[in-house]
Amino acid sequence: MIDHHSPEVITAIQATVKASELCQKIRKDLIGGESILKSDRSPVTIADYGSQAILCKLIREKFPDDTIVAEEDAKELKRPVHSNILEQVTHYVRAFIPTASSKDVCSWIDFSSNSIAERFWTVDPIDGTKGFLRADQYAIALALVEKGVVKLGILACPNLYADIHQPSGERGCLFIALKGRGSIQIDLKGVNKRTLSVSKIRNPSEATMTESVEPDHADHLFHQRLAEKLNISKPSLRMDSQAKYGAVARGEVTLYLRVPSPSEPGYKEKIWDHAAGSIIAEEAGGKVTDILGRPLDFSYGIKMEKNHGVLVTNGILHEIVLEALKM
Ligand code: AMP
Ligand code: MG
Repeated sequence: MIDHHSPEVITAIQATVKASELCQKIRKDLIGGESILKSDRSPVTIADYGSQAILCKLIREKFPDDTIVAEEDAKELKRPVHSNILEQVTHYVRAFIPTASSKDVCSWIDFSSNSIAERFWTVDPIDGTKGFLRADQYAIALALVEKGVVKLGILACPNLYADIHQPSGERGCLFIALKGRGSIQIDLKGVNKRTLSVSKIRNPSEATMTESVEPDHADHLFHQRLAEKLNISKPSLRMDSQAKYGAVARGEVTLYLRVPSPSEPGYKEKIWDHAAGSIIAEEAGGKVTDILGRPLDFSYGIKMEKNHGVLVTNGILHEIVLEALKM
């Protein structure tokens, strides 16, 4: 059984912290304090590739036999027309791995496999890219899955306030959950450890909901109707990335709802968008299913074909919300 001293945990923490430092550095250098609303996605592209290169390299080095399933591949990056991007990715990766060449960077990114295995790691190098560009929330997500069961989940949220009572206070959180051992939050320097537990709210009218910022990622109107049905009066906390799972885990909100958006009703969720977050919410006492009450299935493939949407609650309210969802 994995514990906090296992090489898996130590490696995963080191890798996510380094990847989040790289992302923050790119944000600062290439975007500054403002958000980019235009079409220039190059900062997120550079950060995505750089983050994945670091994560894959450090995991593969320690666990050469493990499969890694990550969001990106280096096919585009290798094209001569993108040599400028590759040069920048390599420059940023070198701050963490000084010997890295452009060839190394591409080969580390391509450690990623396009199918899952009995034991595999799943990586989202930047979850919530739109949040990254807007200077809002984003996360570096890493999970270890064995026989379809998430054993370890880590989310680095560089822009998330550490104290839920001080949203304008210090930023940077690392959420860590180990199967059977609970969830914790530490800061990105590895200190200020807190054990997480979900909210104890029993009355749905006192609940707070979190949902995606992007209307294409979830059906905001449906969520609003559900809130009305449950007499939820507090406004929803809109947040990009799996930071939403962290918000449920630390009792900041009571439920996270993700009903597929009418703009893409058949959308199938990807494992790297939910594996790390789900164990963090569950180990803090929460419950995670799809919107029909089925457990999230991490044993089928990259796309979660067996699931439809996502519901995360403090557990106490789960059945009530599932019932209300039948509308
Ligand atoms: P969030 O920040 O929670 O809105 O989720 C960000 C993630 O949504 C990205 O990592 C994408 O993989 C994923 N995504 C992309 N398109 C959709 C869609 N149509 N429905 C749901 N999720 C999506
Ligand atoms: Mg993602």
